[in-house]
Amino acid sequence: MTSYIKIKNHINGQWLDESNGQYEPLKNPSTGSVIGEVPISSEETSRQATAAAAEAFPAWSATPLPKRMNYIFDMQQAMKDNLEMLAEAIAIDQAKHIAEARGEVGRVIEILQMACSIPATIQGETVQGIANNINGRLIKAPLGVFCGVAPFNFPALVFGWFIPFAIGTGNTFVYKPSTESPLFMQKMMQLLVDIGLPDGVVNIVHGDRETVEAWYEDDNVAGVCLVGSTPTAKAIAEGCGRGGKKTMLLGGAKNFLVAMEDAPMDLMIENILMSGYGSAGQRCLAVSNIAVVSEIYDEFVERLLEASKNITVGDAMNPDVFMGPVISAKAKERIQNYIEIGQNEGATLALDGRNPDVADANKDGYFVGPTVFTDVTPCMQIAREEIFGPVLSVMKVGCINGALRMIKNHEMGNGAVIFTQNSYYTEKFINEADVGMVGVNVGICAPHPYLPFGGIKGSLVGNNKVQGKDAVDFFTQSKVATVRVVDPKAGNATPAATADSSVRSCVAS
Ligand code: NAD
Repeated sequence: MTSYIKIKNHINGQWLDESNGQYEPLKNPSTGSVIGEVPISSEETSRQATAAAAEAFPAWSATPLPKRMNYIFDMQQAMKDNLEMLAEAIAIDQAKHIAEARGEVGRVIEILQMACSIPATIQGETVQGIANNINGRLIKAPLGVFCGVAPFNFPALVFGWFIPFAIGTGNTFVYKPSTESPLFMQKMMQLLVDIGLPDGVVNIVHGDRETVEAWYEDDNVAGVCLVGSTPTAKAIAEGCGRGGKKTMLLGGAKNFLVAMEDAPMDLMIENILMSGYGSAGQRCLAVSNIAVVSEIYDEFVERLLEASKNITVGDAMNPDVFMGPVISAKAKERIQNYIEIGQNEGATLALDGRNPDVADANKDGYFVGPTVFTDVTPCMQIAREEIFGPVLSVMKVGCINGALRMIKNHEMGNGAVIFTQNSYYTEKFINEADVGMVGVNVGICAPHPYLPFGGIKGSLVGNNKVQGKDAVDFFTQSKVATVRVVDPKAGNATPAATADSSVRSCVAS
């Protein structure tokens, strides 16, 4: 039994109640019951946090790089030591299945490994001898204060994508978790305090849209990053465009899985269950549209339905069930509405996840069971729009070209995977699938933390991706120095004085 959770802001080293007094109830999606409250911070509180981060910036950016890295190492150790506590925090308010919550924290620990390589990836460049006694040098410098906005579905992962890279490169940070899953960051922030991270380097403000809008024209803010839906990414892009802020904005998704005639069927079905129903379908890399070649269509549908019917649904803290609830009553209603839309537009509802059997769990939880539509066509709403729930749309295609065309014509472009043993299909898919992340014989094509993570088309607003060297580049600005070395013994005579006076160069000579 969890005691009442009072979520607080953390600004300049202090845990604070929201001074404007506005709070929203925090619910456990597995039971529907109120388990605490979360502040909806005012614009004033939001700017108080950026002011604290701005004040911390000079000392933090001047902190020697090895010392900054020690904090990242300590952060990683603290996460390893407290993995179970952090995973439980995710399972309590987001109701991610406890085994998946452990996996999410484990992935952040791996991301921190990459962040520990910042000293290697932040190095600049020097070009010696661009003219007599003149060298050119490129420096990667921090920018100041970054702000980050998280979605509900990956409270730990998004922390890992933003904060270690932002502060490791010398910036300070203000982070706004989702009001639907704030508990992870409350626990994580305490760990950052415990490792002795200086006050103001990382600040937390909870809240909603207005909390974020306060940053668009705030002089203390250098940039804003978001992982969320595409409409939110576009709204932030617009606001940050007005305020001249740098942005990194990952949006929504609708991912395809392509099943070829030689697909390893058992492996593929197992991966579809993990990808499509894991986190109750609330993952940006969840498979959602399945394009199956006609040769294996009937066998595939039969196998998928048989396996889907065996998926158990229940409380996220129950290790014996496969799938927990969706995040909220509103999300449940939205998903159920899409199931109705699919029926109305002529798809066959082969497995209906409304009113699933949740015998061991509280019926007031926000449960939607595995749902499978067959005979779906790419122009149907259920194939075009992000449902963000455990709903699969199965479509028949003649060949790989038909599947690739569907992917190309789709507005979103986060991930796509193919199941095949044929190297021609493999290479063709890698080269031609019009998405940012491709997978072969894997259900979820999430790149390893050493490589960038992000989609294309409607799944990415702008061009900046998270993780890897891309993150280091985003959180730094390059500055180029042109340096003439003057020999003090030779006085002020410069080689330019002896150069051809009929040409005046606009570069150092
Ligand atoms: P959301 O867009 O509703 O909210 C995300 C965050 O933005 C929240 O913190 C919210 O408070 C804030 N927000 C909402 N509206 C805003 C506005 N107008 N201005 C400023 N801030 C605003 O998304 P969600 O429902 O929390 O998360 C699910 C979405 O996130 C899905 O679309 C999913 O695909 C996407 N997502 C994408 C990735 C990726 O890697 N591309 C990863 C995880 C989640």
